[in-house]
Amino acid sequence: MEVEASTVKTFGRGDFFHHLLAVKYSIKENVLISTASFKTTQSEEIFAAAQKLMPGGVSSPVRAFKSVGGQPIVFDRVKGAYVWDVDGNQYIDYVGSWGPAICGHAHPEVIAALHDALEKGTSFGAPSVLENVLAEMVIDGVPSVEMVRFVNSGTEACMSVLRLMRAFTGRDKIIKFEGCYHGHADMFLVKAGSGVATLGLPDSPGVPKTTTNNTLTAPYNDLEAVKALFANNPNQIAGVILEPVVGNAGFIPPDAGFLEGLRMLTQEHRALLVFDEVMTGFRIAYGGAQEKFGVTPDLTTLGKVIGGGLPVGAYGGRKDIMSMVAPAGPMYQAGTLSGNPLAMTAGIKTLELLQKPGTYDQLNRITKKLADGLLQIAQETGHAAYGGQISAMFGLFFTGEPVHNYEDAKKSDLAKFSQFHRGMLERGVYLAPSQFEAGFTSLAHTDEDIDRTLEAAREVMSSL
Ligand SMILES: *Cc1c(COP(=O)(O)O)cnc(C)c1O
Repeated sequence: MEVEASTVKTFGRGDFFHHLLAVKYSIKENVLISTASFKTTQSEEIFAAAQKLMPGGVSSPVRAFKSVGGQPIVFDRVKGAYVWDVDGNQYIDYVGSWGPAICGHAHPEVIAALHDALEKGTSFGAPSVLENVLAEMVIDGVPSVEMVRFVNSGTEACMSVLRLMRAFTGRDKIIKFEGCYHGHADMFLVKAGSGVATLGLPDSPGVPKTTTNNTLTAPYNDLEAVKALFANNPNQIAGVILEPVVGNAGFIPPDAGFLEGLRMLTQEHRALLVFDEVMTGFRIAYGGAQEKFGVTPDLTTLGKVIGGGLPVGAYGGRKDIMSMVAPAGPMYQAGTLSGNPLAMTAGIKTLELLQKPGTYDQLNRITKKLADGLLQIAQETGHAAYGGQISAMFGLFFTGEPVHNYEDAKKSDLAKFSQFHRGMLERGVYLAPSQFEAGFTSLAHTDEDIDRTLEAAREVMSSL
């Protein structure tokens, strides 16, 4: 890409933006085959400038590559299974904007629908029929959802569902699991301490202890720990919230009986069961992990895929519980841009594409090929590894021990993962820049993409 250094330095005064628009179509695509053609000069310059303008140079921390070290890649554009950076390098993408791009980036049908919607305006702040359409799709698709409220992010969905859990039960305490992420609202920013009944200690400065001491934590896949928390806090626990398949501690599926056990325990203690399906919704199956595992929670949070790449979150569930939400009921929750027509349009089109027959078989097949291939290559090249996939979500830990929870995940060889990540990047494969993130595939990924990825993985793992 022919951007001069002097042009890049005008960043922040608007010129750079116009310049990028002007050169958008002149970028020479550099399909990386060997590391020799990998260039990062533009990424480096833009990121250096960004660090002076925004904390850490990013709008969300993991993008800064802190946990793998090295230079983050500055994106220019995305399409299908691929992303291009500002130096013109092309990558096969396994992040998918952290989940939304399940049909492939910038799907032509989604873009066309957005063009049409754009003509009608960008924000209404009033009811629109688009909300009915997406609401109906979510209610039809997700077993637990009888009524839904749209918000703008997964964080907002989880924050609101927590208020609802407390409003409905009149209890303040909640149980979450170590390594599960439910957005950055204060009450969820709790890292589990040692010991089962540890009271929540804030994970970040600025979060008062008084906010998190109602957040109880247990290790994932540990029903006994949850039982103990219920026993020690009688009639005080509003509910249990979890990622039904963990993606935010790396990919960790639920053990047989875990979800069923939580369903029984919560019913026994008249507490609510909440699946945070912001990541797994419409990805593990159309109806999310709850469809896949046949366990129906009381409430569900959604995000990522239902926005089709625009900012959308949602929470929904049993009608009697959802009827507490204002203005139907007394629990306040609102949003200026909630139900935004562009966001609803992208979501509707994305779900329509996912409803086509064979979609999830294809996602599962391609992802299994990748996950199995990575494990086999690790084995053949002498690296201890553990991983797997369900549908379009996969993971690979550099540890020989099975991973059932966050403690197990932390036994991974993080230095090795960092080298692996860098090696793959230099060969045109964009993986999530942390051992503790799941990987995502899309309908745009082809067998050839997977073959190329595995070829790169063999080369990198052989050199580690
Ligand atoms: C991404 C994610 C969130 C937060 O969603 P944002 O849109 O980033 O606020 C919450 N829960 C889970 C399980 C997630 O994966």
